[in-house]
Amino acid sequence: MTQNHYDVIVVGGGVSGAALFYELGRYTDVKKICLLEKYGSLSSLNSNGSANSQTIHCGDIETNYTLEKAAKVKRTAKMVEKYCLQYNYEDKVIFSHQKLALGVGSEEVNFIKNRYKEFKTLYPYLEFYTKKQLAEIEPAVIFDKNGKERPEDIVGMGAQNEFTTVDFKALSDSFIDNTLKIEDKVTDIFFNNEVKEIQKIGSTYHVQTTMSQFTADFVVVNAGAHSLFLAHKMGHGLDYGCLPVAGSFYMGNRKILNGKVYMVQNPKLPFAALHGDPDILVNGFTRFGPTALVLPKLERFKSGTYLDFFKTLRFDFVVMKIFYDLFRDSDIRNYVLKNFLFEVPGLNKKLFIQDARKIVPSLSEDDISYAKGFGGVRPQILDKINQKLMLGEASIDTGEGIIFNMTPSPGATSCLGNAVRDVEVICKHLGLNFDEKLFNDELVEDEITEEESV
Ligand SMILES: Cc1cc2nc3c(=O)[nH]c(=O)nc-3n(C[C@H](O)[C@H](O)[C@H](O)COP(=O)(O)OP(=O)(O)OC[C@H]3O[C@@H](n4cnc5c(N)ncnc54)[C@H](O)[C@@H]3O)c2cc1C
Repeated sequence: MTQNHYDVIVVGGGVSGAALFYELGRYTDVKKICLLEKYGSLSSLNSNGSANSQTIHCGDIETNYTLEKAAKVKRTAKMVEKYCLQYNYEDKVIFSHQKLALGVGSEEVNFIKNRYKEFKTLYPYLEFYTKKQLAEIEPAVIFDKNGKERPEDIVGMGAQNEFTTVDFKALSDSFIDNTLKIEDKVTDIFFNNEVKEIQKIGSTYHVQTTMSQFTADFVVVNAGAHSLFLAHKMGHGLDYGCLPVAGSFYMGNRKILNGKVYMVQNPKLPFAALHGDPDILVNGFTRFGPTALVLPKLERFKSGTYLDFFKTLRFDFVVMKIFYDLFRDSDIRNYVLKNFLFEVPGLNKKLFIQDARKIVPSLSEDDISYAKGFGGVRPQILDKINQKLMLGEASIDTGEGIIFNMTPSPGATSCLGNAVRDVEVICKHLGLNFDEKLFNDELVEDEITEEESV
């Protein structure tokens, strides 16, 4: 075997790749692992704090999640929290803010009331807020620019003392730092190594990068939107296409909100309604967004991925039919048009502010500006067999020693959960041991029911 041979190669140094690297190092008896990253640092794309909303999506205030989905994300979100507490990363990687979901108008008020009852079973710490209580804890959602209470019925549900926010780039850096400290393993990282080609010869994977060649017994591709691009090159995942949906933000000129404020989701729309969040990398100033705009490229602020987009979309009659079905709905048509206009200079702020005023009625154009350089791309998957746009994450486990992961939101929150799913597959395939007890002791939270918490 050559010096460049590894038991496992992880492609992509975003938070997903970094989390997998850490779990392989800490919880398995693998001997040689390697991470290959295209750029010169970790998490320069979607896992960067300026690209995403920095939210731990644990399912309590995300009104687009069903109770079943919420239970799933809660388990993996807790892993991130437990990891951060294990290494004392409070206020360095993980942060705590007040958070709430707002219901505005009688229909949404009823929705929040019912949801509060249902979701309190899973999240015993949830609190219900009347208009009066909201005026105290989050006054900006109640008072207009003249200091008068907004006329609509309004309530909220949320929490005060939970961890809500993560710097996912700092989290990625910590995963790698902690893996490099492990002494009895080879843990190599190669930056500026874009994977161009992966070939299986016999039972070995040959990975060609822009700089060198590597071989491995198992490969996991965590390359964001490029995961599907690389899968297609190898003939995998041909029933999927990738639709890159960019998200942009508007930055407040101060702390307009005390914490995170989410809104009730229109169930027909594929993405979360816009929200306001304290940006931990910009003095806690309130950042509003994200918007949702289909872009013909796989990386938001990098050049040269237009062709990759067209190849990964795999445009054909079925893709056309999926678009046609989506656009037949007037809610979706208007949503797509509006989100396009949110990017048009001159018009964008005026239109965006109308939506944002549902959260902060006093908001004026001087309070926010288009956040240049902020935002990323959600690699949404078009499922050609079922002819629909998939809303969550997707993973292609070929069963042949290579896995491809596509991770739109809440992929950063579920990085440790996705990684352990892959660790188990890798261990089985390579005959390695996974220390499940240590993993559960360190990262899995015991279930706490509502009865136990009172
Ligand atoms: C606007 C927006 C808001 C979001 N908000 C949230 C949020 O609040 N909470 C949350 O949990 N999630 C959020 N998400 C989703 C979250 O950002 C992603 O799920 C997560 O960052 C994905 O991490 P990743 O490591 O899989 O991919 P990425 O972060 O995209 O990393 C992929 C890595 O692979 C590398 N790479 C690509 N191609 C190659 C190649 N050929 N060879 C080698 N390396 C390669 C890239 O350089 C990159 O470093 C948001 C996303 C967007 C766009």
